Amino acid sequence: MKVLLIAPPGAGKGTQGVVIASHFGVPHIATGDLLRDHVTRGTELGRTVQQFLDRGELVPDEIVLEMVREAFEAAQGGGYVLDGLPRTMSQARALYEIAVELNMTADVALHLQVRDAELVNRLLARAKLQGRADDTEVVIQRRLELYYEVTHPILEWYGERGILVSVDAMRPADHVGRHILTALEVLRQVIDGSPGLSRRPVVLTGLGAAFGASA
Ligand code: ADP
Repeated sequence: MKVLLIAPPGAGKGTQGVVIASHFGVPHIATGDLLRDHVTRGTELGRTVQQFLDRGELVPDEIVLEMVREAFEAAQGGGYVLDGLPRTMSQARALYEIAVELNMTADVALHLQVRDAELVNRLLARAKLQGRADDTEVVIQRRLELYYEVTHPILEWYGERGILVSVDAMRPADHVGRHILTALEVLRQVIDGSPGLSRRPVVLTGLGAAFGASA
């Protein structure tokens, strides 16, 4: 299973990314975690990216794309859950090229939908628990602004490619997790079982998710 997770900050990408990755036994590649790890370890890359992270700005493409290429090469053509990239249309195109080259194009772009007020509440609650430098009100607003400006529009592209699945992520995390796994299991059967079928659009009624596999 090859999954791209696309969602605003606070929607639960990290939480659901771990759930999906452990269910399918694939690596969870989270660009934010990889970047924060560099900052914590004080590497040269960490020093370069820290200011971007602290301000909620996007790190330059070449840095994040190189990270993902390395992680994809380590995953050796298998499955993955990619969390945090693409965040822009140019990253989406570059990722597609890398994935084609390594024979790892995504089966599904999973979009987690959450209303803004709930996102802000979740991020402020997390700030108290984890103290992430970018979970302050000002930086949260900037991250949300960037999400709507440059990330949200790429969903349309995945819709056109026929791999977009949108789920309601307003409910408690374990409900959302079960919903996602149900949708992905149905999708897996379509992908594994019937190559012909995968070329037609599929609608999952009652699950609130709709997808069609790419032609
Ligand atoms: P969130 O989605 O909650 O903002 P992430 O952990 O995914 O959290 O990302 C944290 C920060 O890492 C972002 O605000 C940005 O500075 C940087 N980052 C992560 N992924 C990317 C990416 N694909 N392109 C540019 N910057 C990124």
